[in-house]
Order: sequence, then C-alpha cells, then structure tokens
Amino acid sequence: MADVDINVGESPFQASPVTPETFDEDHVIRFRCHKDIECFNACCRNIDITLTPYDIIRLKQHLGITSGAFLKKYTVPFELAANSIAGVKVRPVEGGTACQFMTDEGCSVYEDRPTACRYYPVGLLSMRRADENFDRASYALVREDHCKGHLEDREITIGEYRKEQGLVEYDELGRAWRQLILKVKSAGPSIGKLSKTSLQFFFLACYDVDRFREFIKSSGFEQSFVIDDATRSELLEDDLALLRFGDRMIRQVMFAEETIEKTSDAYEKLVGRRTEARKISEEFGDEPE
Ligand code: SF4
Ligand code: SF4
Repeated sequence: MADVDINVGESPFQASPVTPETFDEDHVIRFRCHKDIECFNACCRNIDITLTPYDIIRLKQHLGITSGAFLKKYTVPFELAANSIAGVKVRPVEGGTACQFMTDEGCSVYEDRPTACRYYPVGLLSMRRADENFDRASYALVREDHCKGHLEDREITIGEYRKEQGLVEYDELGRAWRQLILKVKSAGPSIGKLSKTSLQFFFLACYDVDRFREFIKSSGFEQSFVIDDATRSELLEDDLALLRFGDRMIRQVMFAEETIEKTSDAYEKLVGRRTEARKISEEFGDEPE
C-alpha cells in the first residue's frame, strides 16, 4: 500500500503476531484478563512498550518525580523514523526483559499504566492516506500463545474494551503526538533533513515536559514569543496545557504552522543571541552549533 502510512504503535511486543485483518470498534473479541489467570504477568516479562507523551505525564505524576528523572531511570530512546524524530520505550529491568513496574501482585502503576498496556491484545493502527490530512483509526488483534485471555468466556466489542481500559482519554490526549509522527513520516524528504535543534526540540516538547516548562520560563522564549499572562500561568502549572502548547510549538518550529505570536523583533534577537554565542565559543574555544 504505497499511499498509506501505517503506524502500528500500540502493541507491547515488537514481533507480535498481529492478525492481518483490521477491524472497527464494533468488532467483537473474545478476551478477559484477570489476576487468577494462569498466564498472569506473562505479558509484562518481555516488554517492548512505546510511550506516548501523555503516558509519561501520567507515570511521572504517579511516581512523584520530574519528567527528566523518569526518562533517565525508566526509558530508553529509539528512532521513530530513520535519522529523524525519536520515541521512548519503557526500559526493562537491568540485564533482563521484564518491566520495571512488574511485581508479583501485578502492575505497580496499574491506574496509570501506559496506552500500550491498556490496549493489549488489541493493536491500534493509525493510518493516513497521502491525499488526506487526517488520520484514521482501526484495530488489529494480537494473538500470542502465552496469553490465555483469548480462551476466556467473555465477548466484548473493541469499542467497549477501549472504554473499559480508559483508552478514550488516553487516545484523545495521545492523538496530537500520533498525528505529528504520521505527518513527519508521510512528509518524508519533502520537509528536508530535520536539523539537530528541531529533533532536540521535538524530544523536549513531547517527552520532557518539566524541562520544556523551564524553556517557557526562559528569556529566550520571552524574547521570541508573545503569550498572555493567563496562558503563561497555565503553562507553568498544568502539564496537560504544556503538552498541548508543545504540540503547537513543534508544528510552528518544524512545519511553519504559525499559531503562536512572535515578538516583532524576534529575528533580530535571535541573530543577536547567535552572535553572542559565537563570541563566547570563540573566546572559550567551543564549537558553535
Ligand atoms: S507498565 Fe504495568 S502493565 Fe505495562 S508492562 Fe509494565 S507491569 Fe505490565
Ligand atoms: S491474559 Fe494475556 S494480558 Fe492478561 S496476564 Fe495473561 S498474558 Fe497478560
């Protein structure tokens, strides 16, 4: 399918035997997972879980740590597209494949478990046609021998399963990020080679929300963008407001979709800062970027 970009982003297992069929929300699956099932925790012993920006916010809030501390201890970065934007995955236990959040009693972050864990054994397929500027969701089923949930006597539609697993909210808050990824992937070479700064900015605004907040507080931001006091206060207090603002800033920086007002002399100040940076690097012998 040359004109369709498919992102199978929500299966916790890289080599998952996803059935070739795709389904809509009305499709009925037979599945139940519970604590007394013989395979309890089997799916958490060999993980490959991509995190959405909203997953990171939920988990770092659950653990009471900053996004930076969370990323360092619990994640590992990877390339979402070759030589391009990065994603982050849950880092397994040292020297093993099990999830760091797994305990004998089950998931220690269950109320805030990631999107991929909620979806399993359903896979979300985000698709975007070359001639359309919106994404479509459809679903696939992951069947793995170790997962006995498929043998349980319960039928449920995928739509009901999504509601049961709290995925309506997770998908709503993960959608902008998914669209960005599809946009970068489907733009391909037409957006040119993304600069190191753009890629770093994508990572910051998507995944490291507390450091992004520091950027919003910085004089560099203030000299370049205009935001009103109410918006600024909201961004300094609310992770979700920052998440949405980050999406707008990425689109502005990477795709020239301008929705944030720039100061009239932003360009002169940028040149001034670069000149200043060059002078400092000349003086101290650092390589200017
Ligand atoms: S986050 Fe929880 S549900 Fe997901 S793999 Fe880890 S232990 Fe399992
Ligand atoms: S039924 Fe499947 S999802 Fe549930 S614990 Fe077993 S392997 Fe994991």
